[in-house]
Amino acid sequence: MRYSQLFGKTSKTVPSDADSVNAKLLTQAGFVQKEISGVYNYLPLGLRVLTNIQNIVREEMNKIDGQEILMPAMTSEEGWVTTGRNTMDVLFHLKGQGDSNLVLNPTHEEVVTPLAQKYLFSYRDLPVAIYQIQNKFRNEVRAKSGLLRGREFNMKDLYSFHTDETDLNRYYEIVKKAYFEIYKRIGLGDITVLTFASGGAFSQFSHEFQTLNDNGEDTIYLCPKCKVAVNKEIIDSQKTCPECGNDKLEAVKATEVGNIFKLRTKFSEAFKFVYSDAQGKEKIVEMGCYGFGPSRTMGTIVEVCHDNKGIIWPSSIAPYQVHLIGLDLFDDKIKSQAEKLYQDLLNKNIEALFDDRLDITAGTKFADADLIGNPIRLVISKRSLEKGGVELKNRNEESSEIFSLDEIISKIVH
Ligand code: ATP
Ligand code: MG
Repeated sequence: MRYSQLFGKTSKTVPSDADSVNAKLLTQAGFVQKEISGVYNYLPLGLRVLTNIQNIVREEMNKIDGQEILMPAMTSEEGWVTTGRNTMDVLFHLKGQGDSNLVLNPTHEEVVTPLAQKYLFSYRDLPVAIYQIQNKFRNEVRAKSGLLRGREFNMKDLYSFHTDETDLNRYYEIVKKAYFEIYKRIGLGDITVLTFASGGAFSQFSHEFQTLNDNGEDTIYLCPKCKVAVNKEIIDSQKTCPECGNDKLEAVKATEVGNIFKLRTKFSEAFKFVYSDAQGKEKIVEMGCYGFGPSRTMGTIVEVCHDNKGIIWPSSIAPYQVHLIGLDLFDDKIKSQAEKLYQDLLNKNIEALFDDRLDITAGTKFADADLIGNPIRLVISKRSLEKGGVELKNRNEESSEIFSLDEIISKIVH
């Protein structure tokens, strides 16, 4: 992509209402633009990151036999009346034609349970796991912190259906592992911890995945030895580490980026969702649900991966792998060498953002590259060519090195 043609540009002005690092940097770097409180437009750079996160999540869900579907965001209120959750504060209500009552779904148990009921009848049909990646709507009391707490936000929600609790427990552990793999792949592995949270009426615990960061909204109590934590809500009933019994838990700040839950029969009972077992006897279906927030995760990554110059994207989710800065492009010889390098990168399928602007100073181009935060910066200029080729610098390092035009590609592809 040529920066000169990119829709969405960097801005030197700090947005006056940016209440968090992610809101400030993502807006200034041209990734998102706020529509209304808690609702954002994703510009090309921002959508690329969101899509990269979603695709990693998708791959890991597919590996554990999750089947992707897409449910409607807007449905009838009926399912919510059935479960009694239609009075939930965060539920957005709409009026349809003929006075029908509609909702914008904040989560999809009320939709997925009756849907699954249309296809799953016998023990032979189970287990099944279905998921979607979609925008959710919640009328949050206080939308805040950029992408961290939105009123419209992106979620991956997986639901699993089982013949019995043992099978639910088996699959739950598989999902837990898949989640750790996701956090590892998106660059949050080392600072994301399994956190024991309240399990509601039907199971002892639910599990949150909490990313440690000083600006986090949640307080969790971490066992430094096991790297597991206990959520503030249950610290009174669970004062020690659930893994090793250690009673010296440390209070730390964190952001919830995922939440998995054994629903057991809470929703299958409400909808009378039963299957017939091998003896032809009716049994109630056991369910699990597993949420992950791609948009909140994107914001969280910015909260933890930045410096005073801008964002530092982990390479697995970066909008582009390479930020190619061309300087002195009014010189035809330099321009043609820069153009050739850009083409070489494209030909090798290396995703590159090429700052080909003619009317912009070198200083601004460097500042924009740091703000946007792609992992590898290449500079081709009169000076770099005199020194023997192209300058390569990683966003997260200070030092740079010159490589010849012939070898530069091999330094990027490993
Ligand atoms: P919270 O306690 O932070 O309000 P929650 O426990 O209600 O979140 P879940 O229903 O478990 O959230 O949703 C699954 C995931 O969706 C969360 O782990 C989080 O990553 C994401 N998420 C939830 N609410 C929001 C929101 N308002 N904005 C952005 N992401 C959200
Ligand atoms: Mg939660």
